[in-house]
Amino acid sequence: METINELESQVRGYVRSFPVVFQWGKGVRMHTEDDVDYLDFFSGAGALNYGHNPDPLKQPLLDYIQADGVTHSLDMASNTKSKFLETFNEVILQPRGMEYKMQFPGPTGTNAVEAALKLARKVTGRERIVSFTNAFHGMTLGALAVTGNAFKRAGAGVPLGHATSMPYCGYFDDETDTAAYLEAMLEDSSSGLDKPAAVILETVQAEGGINVAEMEWLQRIEKICRDHDLLLIVDDIQAGVGRTGPFFSFEPAGIKPDLICLSKSLSGYGLPLALTLIRPDLDEWAPGEHNGTFRGNNLAFVTSTHAIKHYWSDDALEKDILRKGEIVRERLQKMIARFPEFKASVRGRGLINGIDCEPAEVANEVTAGCFKRHLLMETSGASDNVIKVMPPLIVDDADLKMGLDILEESLEEVLRQRGIAKGAA
Ligand SMILES: *Cc1c(COP(=O)(O)O)cnc(C)c1O
Repeated sequence: METINELESQVRGYVRSFPVVFQWGKGVRMHTEDDVDYLDFFSGAGALNYGHNPDPLKQPLLDYIQADGVTHSLDMASNTKSKFLETFNEVILQPRGMEYKMQFPGPTGTNAVEAALKLARKVTGRERIVSFTNAFHGMTLGALAVTGNAFKRAGAGVPLGHATSMPYCGYFDDETDTAAYLEAMLEDSSSGLDKPAAVILETVQAEGGINVAEMEWLQRIEKICRDHDLLLIVDDIQAGVGRTGPFFSFEPAGIKPDLICLSKSLSGYGLPLALTLIRPDLDEWAPGEHNGTFRGNNLAFVTSTHAIKHYWSDDALEKDILRKGEIVRERLQKMIARFPEFKASVRGRGLINGIDCEPAEVANEVTAGCFKRHLLMETSGASDNVIKVMPPLIVDDADLKMGLDILEESLEEVLRQRGIAKGAA
């Protein structure tokens, strides 16, 4: 730990919340060099949906490495890439009636967003992108321009332009119709909003505070995009790959995005892999117009292909995620109901859920208390005001209960210390 504090840049983040040295991980647990087990309800910010080093992916990966399978090949053809494309198409896209071209834009989520924004601008010949309050799309300049957080935006050091932020679903209250607001702005030639190329959204704003868009809102945004000839980009980097239940988070809304961004848990093994799905007729890229040295990570293709086959060939995992999500929300509701003086609300979908806390500081105090009790959890939201409960999708009921018990204990401790839990049952 001293080495990290001495040599790694100040920019380091999570190590400050979790100041221990991890050595290995398996399933829903991480193990430190001091032989302590931590239950992981953080899941690599959504990059470890199947847990740490999942067995169904590990052996194929080891076999591939043992056989000197090609590790790096830029975007040359490799048999692992062919298998990935074929498997993703046959298991994920075709059964959902989806037809998309697949672009490997570079290894990270923000690369998938940059590619989508660039292509939307190229195809429409327009510059402006509409994004939403509390959005998070990544740290490179294009993605940062459509990200809400002022602190992160300021890190750019240059003006972030060509984007307009609009109120997300439920931004003001439950009644105010923010889709109608966007529509009015687009329809009024005097609104001051230049005609955009695209609208980019997350169906659940994970970093932005677990804000869940209503299905009807998503449908209306899609309709507005169609009526105004705008492209619809869904950033499913964190909410996708099963986090909300179905493989794509927007499936229950029945919408058809023009561009879809995936990354985080796509490889299934915590290996970097990103994908931009493109409506076929929009694939106007010239060869090499957007490139990158680490497009197409063959090791990640191996694990992703096996993850898709193993976890998504039927709907068993999806059903299990939805079932466990109900357990989590019910439990969180019960938890906050014990403390009538605690101003809190529960929200989420599938296995991305949270408790919005007031005062905001309660959230970080609770996750610090969880860490003390060997449970890893983070906070999200504009003021880090939301306790983010995000176990791996494969968590079993006993570990789920264990984590929620720890969370409750920690919450109770914080509320008692703050004198908020006086009347607690
Ligand atoms: C994490 C995330 C990104 C950025 O991905 P990186 O791999 O960190 O670049 C973009 N959008 C959403 C919704 C994310 O959660």
